[in-house]
Amino acid sequence: MIEQRRILATPLPGPRSQALAERKLAAVSAGVGIALPVYIEAAQDGILRDIDGNQLIDFGSGIAVTSVGNGSARVIDAVQRQIADFTHTCFMVTPYEEYVAVAEELAKLTPGEHEKRSALFNSGAEAVENAVKIARSATGRQAVVAFDHAYHGRTNLTMGLTAKNMPYKHHFGPFASEIYRVPMAYPYRWPTENCLTEAFAEFTAMVHAQIGEENTAAVIIEPIQGEGGFIVPPDGFLTQIADYCREHGIVFIADEIQSGLCRTGDWFACDHEGVVPDLVTTAKGLAGGMPLAAVTGRADLMDAVHSGGLGGTYGGNPVACAAALAAIESMRADDLCAKARAIEDTVVPRLKEIADRTEVIGDVRGRGAMLAIELVSDLEKKTPYPELTAAVNKACHARGLVTLTCGTFGNVFRFLPPLTIAPELLDEGLGLLDEAFDEALGATAAGG
Ligand code: PMP
Repeated sequence: MIEQRRILATPLPGPRSQALAERKLAAVSAGVGIALPVYIEAAQDGILRDIDGNQLIDFGSGIAVTSVGNGSARVIDAVQRQIADFTHTCFMVTPYEEYVAVAEELAKLTPGEHEKRSALFNSGAEAVENAVKIARSATGRQAVVAFDHAYHGRTNLTMGLTAKNMPYKHHFGPFASEIYRVPMAYPYRWPTENCLTEAFAEFTAMVHAQIGEENTAAVIIEPIQGEGGFIVPPDGFLTQIADYCREHGIVFIADEIQSGLCRTGDWFACDHEGVVPDLVTTAKGLAGGMPLAAVTGRADLMDAVHSGGLGGTYGGNPVACAAALAAIESMRADDLCAKARAIEDTVVPRLKEIADRTEVIGDVRGRGAMLAIELVSDLEKKTPYPELTAAVNKACHARGLVTLTCGTFGNVFRFLPPLTIAPELLDEGLGLLDEAFDEALGATAAGG
């Protein structure tokens, strides 16, 4: 057990972390960037402990992964038992129950009462790629529609689906063909008050004019966009897209890799509007930190693929599946959806206070424990303020608060604490954020 308390034993990063940073430089590709070079030796719930004895408050969950918290007794127990039994056979060679049980759980939990099937993979990007494969195979069509500000991964097909050049796509082309991008319903930056109707009209017009409905295999969307800036479309947008897809025989894929599994206060972000996607991709929070991802969806689509068409050596690894069953059990037993909603109730008023006091926050948004603020240097013009975002982030890190930024313009702060974080730590972290704003604003005012 790690005491749920922040400790600053050294300036960050401490001497041991600095020594490891030297080794990293000599051994690990420079292409693998690091947000906060503090090397971790243990973690539990809201605390990460580093190798210098510092204890940091975690507002990132390893990018929305450890929703059930590091150190979950259920996950540890399940993983230890499974490792002792066996670690791998390859489900495609000689299968095992845990994989089937995860698929059964996903069928129950994902939106909609229809008959479903799942296929399991190792990473979010792999799940997205396979969702596209399934949609193409089932429809016999090729085109895929993705949105501005989208993030779907770093493999070749998913880079093509991802919107932002730097750092995800830069110098890595050429990208896959038959990917079309449409505007995202981004209320804060939509030029008029009519974001919902205009964004939907632009979407349908572009599909019609540039692709043709009958050539469109799939539309993929994050119900709340993640890396692109925690952009929440207006209520009704997802429903309209889903209805349109149904009308035209287009597969509607909800990428719930970041937003799914209790993170937004519902099992899935789509539940908020009662939207039922044809296919849902999950990863991140699914397996308590073990690598596991899934495509879950309509049985007729999932079963349209020829036998052997989906898979991979490690997909649905038994240890990861055991962890997922335990994580899902924790989500249910500990009502982590309610915990996510309680986090929203605590955090949003505090973010609004900072917004009122500082006049550099243009938008406070998100749902549950997937929350963000967008920083601007001019509230009227909504000018992105990435420099201040970076400065606040740095000031949080120096105080032992692990925060993450995101956004196409690098000016969004996102909050993704483990859903099991202690209320006192959440409160302390928000106090540190307050201080970080004061420090960063002081520095920018002084020209620092
Ligand atoms: N889709 C979304 C919405 C994501 O947030 C991410 C990861 N940030 C991915 C796909 C890719 O997942 P992975 O990094 O596991 O490949």
